[in-house]
Amino acid sequence: MREFIYSRTAYLAGIDNTPPPECVDILKEFCAKVLEPVREFAGTILIASGYRCPELNRLVHGVPTSEHIWTPDRVAADLHFAMLLEEVFDWICKKSFLPFDQCILERGKVPDVETDDCIHISYTRAPRRMALLGETHNRSGYQRVPVLKPTSEVKDV
Ligand SMILES: [Zn+2]
Repeated sequence: MREFIYSRTAYLAGIDNTPPPECVDILKEFCAKVLEPVREFAGTILIASGYRCPELNRLVHGVPTSEHIWTPDRVAADLHFAMLLEEVFDWICKKSFLPFDQCILERGKVPDVETDDCIHISYTRAPRRMALLGETHNRSGYQRVPVLKPTSEVKDV
């Protein structure tokens, strides 16, 4: 939880960024079903931004409907890796078959500053497995990326 609520912006602004306790159950599911397998693949995950209370979300210019404002039904996190984001994104979309809701390879505001880029990934109990490419805060409109389905989803005849 410490990794999900840490925010330097919140610290400097004196904001208590503790999520509502009702969000803990779905966060545990998100970790077990999505983030742990991603960590197994990538080796290391650094959470750049997990939970944002509404005040913190405003400070970091998040959209008011941001998935980072967790609810008991939806959680999200922005991730950094010690490997190429493209490689992780490709694995998540084409090979992992993980039950994520949205996975977005986001380009940061500063061109070619890779620490500003991240993978945003969210989880719900009815995951859409939607993959997108675009700029942070949807500045230029996201582009849809195909997601492969596991062959086990094909019904037996
Ligand atoms: Zn995000």
